[in-house]
Amino acid sequence: MGLFKCPKHGMQLLTFVSPKLAEYIQKSQTVDFNIKKICLNLDDGKQSMHTVDEDFAEEVSKKYSLDGETLKINNVEAAFDVYCSLTGICSSCFTESMQKLKKIIIFQILNSTWRKLDDK
Ligand SMILES: [Zn+2]
Repeated sequence: MGLFKCPKHGMQLLTFVSPKLAEYIQKSQTVDFNIKKICLNLDDGKQSMHTVDEDFAEEVSKKYSLDGETLKINNVEAAFDVYCSLTGICSSCFTESMQKLKKIIIFQILNSTWRKLDDK
């Protein structure tokens, strides 16, 4: 896993996400694409969940012929391969960015519900 010195949060644990998502979070840009979870079964028998962008998820699911909402990779070598292509970022920056994203999604849901009510 490893430690990282974040300019904003100081010493933090690393969270591994897809390179595109990492770039957005590091630049504090609003995540304006869909995100998915990938579940990797690494050799110690532990499952590790990672947040990735939709393009990354699609690429991985094509490469390893996966499907389903939560992509699960059981093959240890394949899981390690995917793990190595992830980028480590500050876990606090990640959490903040995901909270911001959640608020945006809730806002969008409320907005579309309101629009639907207006239509009637
Ligand atoms: Zn940080």
